[in-house]
Amino acid sequence: GDESYPECRAQELFDEFVSSSTCRAALGSFSQLCEHLQLDRSGGGGERPLYRAIKHRLNYWRANALWAKLDRRAAQQEYQKARVCNNITCVIIGAGPCGLRAAVELSFMGARVVLLEKRDSFSRNNVLHLWPYTIHDLRGLGAKKFYGKFCAGSIDHISIRQLQLVLLKVALLLGVEVHVNVEFKNLVEPPEDQCLSTCAEVGWRMAVKPKSHPVNQLEFDVIIGADGRRNTLPGFRRKEFRGKLAIAITANFKNRNTTAEAKVEEISGVASIFNQRFFQELRQETGIDLENIVYYKDDTHYFVMTAKKQSLLEKGVIIQDFADTALLLSRGNVDQNALQMYAREAADFSTNHQLPSLDFAMNHYGQPDVAMFDFTCMYASENAALVRQRRGHQLLVTLVGDSLLEPFWPMGTGIARGFLAALDSCWMVLSWSQGGAPLDVLAQRESVYRLLPQTTPENLQKNFSLFTVDPTTRYLNINRLLVTPAQVRHLVDTGEEAGLNTDCGDIKHSFSQSNKLLSWCQEQTRGYRGVAVSDLTTSWKSGLALCALIHRYRPDLIDFDSLDEASVEENTRLGFDVAEREFGISPLMTVDELSSVGEPDSLSMVMYLTQFYQLLKDTAA
Ligand code: FAD
Repeated sequence: GDESYPECRAQELFDEFVSSSTCRAALGSFSQLCEHLQLDRSGGGGERPLYRAIKHRLNYWRANALWAKLDRRAAQQEYQKARVCNNITCVIIGAGPCGLRAAVELSFMGARVVLLEKRDSFSRNNVLHLWPYTIHDLRGLGAKKFYGKFCAGSIDHISIRQLQLVLLKVALLLGVEVHVNVEFKNLVEPPEDQCLSTCAEVGWRMAVKPKSHPVNQLEFDVIIGADGRRNTLPGFRRKEFRGKLAIAITANFKNRNTTAEAKVEEISGVASIFNQRFFQELRQETGIDLENIVYYKDDTHYFVMTAKKQSLLEKGVIIQDFADTALLLSRGNVDQNALQMYAREAADFSTNHQLPSLDFAMNHYGQPDVAMFDFTCMYASENAALVRQRRGHQLLVTLVGDSLLEPFWPMGTGIARGFLAALDSCWMVLSWSQGGAPLDVLAQRESVYRLLPQTTPENLQKNFSLFTVDPTTRYLNINRLLVTPAQVRHLVDTGEEAGLNTDCGDIKHSFSQSNKLLSWCQEQTRGYRGVAVSDLTTSWKSGLALCALIHRYRPDLIDFDSLDEASVEENTRLGFDVAEREFGISPLMTVDELSSVGEPDSLSMVMYLTQFYQLLKDTAA
């Protein structure tokens, strides 16, 4: 009848939201639902009024099944009924799985959570391997209610996009404020000339694109970098793990869900050391030489394999051999058709020719979804967190996910460690909100971070149902005092010392060959108007070379064409400022020292440029 109409409509909207299959559709249907229920979405935080209001108004079987799950999780005592962090505003950069997972946790703790995502679609077909605890964790958040196929039977994987969708929906229900098409640019310090008499003091803020977005005015206490391997938050030095050459290929083929496809067995980690014969036969029959291959049947047929360079050259996938892997795998040096054939042949052989049609699924750009990635050099941040302090305002800064520790995909460790670290960082936010001293809070976080690279399913606690945000419930043999407060003093940035990135002792040490640095700089700045790098000193005096170097990697940061060669000081200042703000690379001399007459100090220049080299050399320009 008429009377039940509004309720039916609400249920309809809720069902639409729950089953929505794109990022935009989820956001759209959630807005409609909130509008229909006349809910106020501004504010957030506190005792999650949004969640309670929705729950109160949607009282029918499908919704109730989900509330039961979420209520059980929310009852964990660490959250203190969503009051433990209700004095805190957190910004999270990036709606990848780890940013979203952190957002969910923080809203359980009662924090106000604002999540920025520069895109508005989830488009990665690639499939993530889940550890048993991650499956348990996601089930507890109602994953199956949003995605019926979630880890059915013995399935232990999910496509990246489905995982993002599930977590986005949970986050929205818990009151996380999600802003898509908003790109984080940089932090904004509390202003110097605060108007003390009339208004409240202004704390830490940020600059985002678009510039007119209201979130530019938001003040916050905590910021979490979850923006993937190219972390944008400055101040985190990256450690590099250089291994032997490792080239990974991912490929996704359409899954039409036929019986024939259903019968084909998955391959989870046939590492060559365990299955010499398989790889030998593959090589003999096809010329394809792999170190390992994984196949998961998911929304797509997903393959990830590590291929040997020689066979890629022989099969014409890589056109010319280079020692430098960035050049080796650069777009111009890869034959896309040959790559498709290589991946298809490997997929076909390894599934015993049982997949009836190997048609590529499409990627975000409407192209066949096959790609090649270089894992020769992996990165991890040296530290997991830091504190910035300016004019009496403290900001807790932390990284999670790939920004913190880059995973080697064929090993399938990424998302499990990513979630662990997200929870660890949330635990730190919890201690922070309780008034923990910066050095203690940081020391504890770094102690836990030391465990992360060694964490496997075997050395976690066994009883998943006891897992909470508290690291001691999850890790075995945890020593929260491994790192002492004295050892993290450099992670509190008061602005008084020259900054976090000027401690270049080991850089100097590791970079003795400035020839390599010089040729890299030359390569990166080649072809820029008014730039001719012939050394590491005087060639940089006009500031143009520095701007060119930055522009090469981030053309969005500097409008190179508009620079005037004669405005030496302006160019230099621009280069210095952008590098500091965007890359966390602080200048080691003043604008004057670089641009005035005479040769700039060569050691400082080498140290300065080395930081660009280390940061950018494995990034595709
Ligand atoms: P990501 O998932 O990378 O998410 C980062 C998010 O931040 C993105 O949505 C990005 O748009 C957003 N963002 C970036 N900068 C900004 C900014 N300035 N402002 C706002 N938002 C920003 N792992 C595997 O195990 N197997 C695979 O096959 C595999 N394939 C991958 C393919 C690609 C193309 C990529 C990028 C990653 C792949 N990974 C794979 C890695 C896997 O996706 C991550 O380990 C996992 O998603 C967890 O990452 P995350 O949440 O830390 O970051």
